[in-house]
Amino acid sequence: MKNIMFIAPPAAGKGTQAELIVEKYHIPHISTGDILRDISKENSEVGHYVSEVLSNGGLVKDDITDQLIEQRLRKEDCKNGYIIDGFPRNIDQAKIYDRILYKLGYDIGYVFLINIGEKELEKRITGRRICENCKAIYNINSESNSPKVNSTCDLCGGKLYQRKDDNLEAFQNRYQVYLEKIGPIIDHYRKKGVLYEIDGNHSISGVFNQIDNIISGDDKS
Ligand code: AMP
Repeated sequence: MKNIMFIAPPAAGKGTQAELIVEKYHIPHISTGDILRDISKENSEVGHYVSEVLSNGGLVKDDITDQLIEQRLRKEDCKNGYIIDGFPRNIDQAKIYDRILYKLGYDIGYVFLINIGEKELEKRITGRRICENCKAIYNINSESNSPKVNSTCDLCGGKLYQRKDDNLEAFQNRYQVYLEKIGPIIDHYRKKGVLYEIDGNHSISGVFNQIDNIISGDDKS
């Protein structure tokens, strides 16, 4: 199985798509956002720093993210493929990632760029709810992806919460940061011939089918 990277604006659905890939292909999902949210709960200098950056929608310093990605990719469960989501967020991180891959003897694999309009993202960001127990993702602004019972996870019964940065103000900042940094990253992967563009303005299964057609088509060949 090739490695998979997602590049997408905030709330484009990369976490949801990653869950579906995990279910089908049983590879680990590495999300820098999830790792950083865990670190932000720590009562330490780094924990307080990360918590502040997360709540205003900026980017955490590269030396922290570079280190945590390398440590995570060195783990045994990444040997047969993994999904990386939320990294790289700028061209320096993309270059560091190339070096980490080289050191570990891994290939980039597929880089999926999910394209989606800003208005749709705003709708998704305000409706996103996450299970605090199993991290399943819902959207109360979408009929097909709302939880069956208000504020409760369909899968495990856990309580659903809203991320601190899932509000319109933090979204605007996160989206501007994304637009500023993403161009050179896209060019970097396009030149390497590993970029696949996905239309994210579809239902969850519609987006998944586009991604899975590419992965499963390659697996068969
Ligand atoms: P996400 O869950 O991917 O939307 O990430 C949530 C937040 O975590 C972002 O808005 C950033 O503050 C931080 N973050 C996640 N990944 C990175 C990264 N690769 N570099 C710097 N900050 C990051």
